[in-house]
Amino acid sequence: MAFAHDRRRMKPAGLTPLSQEAIPSCVIHHFATARAASRRRIDNVRMKLVIVDRDGTINVERDGYIQTADEWQPLPGALDAIARLNHAGWHVVIAANMPGLGRGLFDMAALGAIQAKMNKQLAAAGGRVEAVFYCPHATDEGCSCRKPLPGLLQQIGERYKVDLKQVHAVGDSERDAQAAAAAGCIPHLVLSGKSAPTQTNPLPSAFPPGTRVHADLAAFASALIGESAAGSKNP
Ligand SMILES: [Zn+2]
Repeated sequence: MAFAHDRRRMKPAGLTPLSQEAIPSCVIHHFATARAASRRRIDNVRMKLVIVDRDGTINVERDGYIQTADEWQPLPGALDAIARLNHAGWHVVIAANMPGLGRGLFDMAALGAIQAKMNKQLAAAGGRVEAVFYCPHATDEGCSCRKPLPGLLQQIGERYKVDLKQVHAVGDSERDAQAAAAAGCIPHLVLSGKSAPTQTNPLPSAFPPGTRVHADLAAFASALIGESAAGSKNP
């Protein structure tokens, strides 16, 4: 985890394409303010954290990789869902496999532009993500951070000093649910991506036991916020 962009210093012109060798084991776009970070150190035991996949969960999946900001289009209700989670006290981070980065199909500048578009639209919806964690590796590179392995989620747990057992992780694929369960998170599946299973009751056996199913991120947010509200009334 050797690489972080602070938003204040993240000028697209200053980002140079990385060679294959220069790509770190885990690429992080970090957007938290210093104030939020210091508050987290005090409060992180109780921090309400949600880990969200990107393609097929927040934005529309495409054939191949999303390589430009133009190709990034949010799913209906997804940005509003993140805003509603934020307003209910949940911090949201993104964890995504991004093998196109390691394969050189797009570079850090393109990734930064995609992320800037997401942040701008999220801000307009009244929401924010704290950070984006990417696995830049291709399938055959044998890294430990590519989902379904738990490395990326474990790095998030370490970075935020939270107990992953209380962290909800949501994505649109079997891989996301497997990574969530392997990291000890609570796995959630949304059916808004291309890899949604045709059968959900019961889910195919590749899904970890206890995986919860929602139509999309909006339904996931409503469920979590509803439970959270019920829980605070009946502690
Ligand atoms: Zn990786």
